[in-house]
Amino acid sequence: MSTDSPPSRRQGEQGYDEARRGLNRAAESRPAYVVVARDEQDVVAAVRLAAKRKRPVGVMATGHGPSLPADDAVLVNTGRMDGVAVDVPGATAWIEAGARWRHVLERTAPHGLAPLSGSSPAVGAVGYLVGGGVGLLGRRFGFAADHVRRLRLVTADGRLRDVTAEEEPDLFWAVRGGKDNFGLVVGMEVDLFPVSRLYGGGLYFEGAATADVLHAYAEWTRHLPEEMASSVLLTHNPDPSGVPDAPRGRFIVHLRIAYSGPAADGERLVRPLRELGGVVLDTVRDMPYAEVGRIYHERTSEPYREYDRNLLLSELTGDTVDALVALAGPDAGAPFVTELTHLGGAYARPPKAGNCVGGRDAAFSLFTVTVPDPGNLRRRDELLAHLRPWGTGGINLNFAGVEDAGLARVRAAYAPADFDRLRAVKARHDPGNMFRVNFNIPPGDATGRAG
Ligand SMILES: Cc1cc2nc3c(=O)[nH]c(=O)nc-3n(C[C@H](O)[C@H](O)[C@H](O)COP(=O)(O)OP(=O)(O)OC[C@H]3O[C@@H](n4cnc5c(N)ncnc54)[C@H](O)[C@@H]3O)c2cc1C
Repeated sequence: MSTDSPPSRRQGEQGYDEARRGLNRAAESRPAYVVVARDEQDVVAAVRLAAKRKRPVGVMATGHGPSLPADDAVLVNTGRMDGVAVDVPGATAWIEAGARWRHVLERTAPHGLAPLSGSSPAVGAVGYLVGGGVGLLGRRFGFAADHVRRLRLVTADGRLRDVTAEEEPDLFWAVRGGKDNFGLVVGMEVDLFPVSRLYGGGLYFEGAATADVLHAYAEWTRHLPEEMASSVLLTHNPDPSGVPDAPRGRFIVHLRIAYSGPAADGERLVRPLRELGGVVLDTVRDMPYAEVGRIYHERTSEPYREYDRNLLLSELTGDTVDALVALAGPDAGAPFVTELTHLGGAYARPPKAGNCVGGRDAAFSLFTVTVPDPGNLRRRDELLAHLRPWGTGGINLNFAGVEDAGLARVRAAYAPADFDRLRAVKARHDPGNMFRVNFNIPPGDATGRAG
């Protein structure tokens, strides 16, 4: 398709509203142009249009992870570019910019292969991959970005580049973790893994069991094999994230399990949690990997408006748990959802081909979701402030939200030396900061300092 005239829509034109709106309406964009890309040439044309009109560029596949409104920008909607091609003998998949994980799972599962996908099949695979990617096999294999083999990228000069460790080492390092700061990814090749099933699901506990469950969880996670991935959600149901109907209307502790070793071992490992008492629903069973979406059971198809915020924890002590119970437990009346995810294992190991993904020193991530309302945000901030003594000082950009788009928060996602290097790479490839509708890495000089 033409590189001269992308299929763009302007305000007032038919299709503009539909194309500009994402699922999380926390940041409503009013772009100057919205381009519904059909292929990589449309993405090239969109970036060239932005250069010509001196506009910033934003990108959206699903709109699940907005950082800033793309006002007056050229917003590229990649949602239709959802192709996935699997190389079975090579155990890789080529994933186009707009493919959701469910598109990838549909193609890989029949071959007994799994991508390093996350909790929700509705999330955009590329958006997740450029943010690192904390997945259900991550303690075993690392961040999803650690297993990107190559990618194609449209940079600020309007060029389509093949980016590999050999051909574009700086871009290859920076894009895997740097989100859309260096250009728009049109496709990525990722490793697949021979995983066709999991022992997984949810243990839902009544609110009264919160303290016991969290203390037991802190102990349990100290001695787990890397095949075991888990997290805990504290929520009043109904809530923005959604849990099955049975426990509706009550405070629920939802412990999520994804074990990729033998089912019998999974059952043995989960037994002490099952025996804690207070289980109101147990959906943990052997399941095909393609059904991983049932583990977290997130509602994702309807538009919503929520602010996400997170911090990374270096440890989960008895005192951390007490603080969590006091400020986010059943008696706190907390107007937000709290999720604690176990990290460690392969996340802590540097990947074969280095990238800029931060947070490798974290033992857990602590993620909160709330409907924006000043009272809610204040209560949530109290929780985060209380937990800070156990924090690494870092955050994870995939779990960040519209309040995190400032420099200090973005910097916190990276190791300090990596942030300097990112700024230098940015200065070389996007000196005018065309890609700034994001968790922005501003261009710096050769040392990475402000240019
Ligand atoms: C229900 C739910 C479950 C989730 N579970 C997990 C999880 O288990 N693990 C995890 O790590 N994260 C998880 N996330 C977070 C998710 O990975 C991020 O929000 C991710 O950015 C979403 O990508 P998207 O394309 O769906 O969203 P979009 O809002 O469309 O994109 C978000 C951002 O991704 C980047 N991006 C998207 N497309 C491109 C592109 N073509 N080129 C360059 N950059 C691009 C841009 O920075 C863009 O602003 C979850 C989110 C939700 C809503």
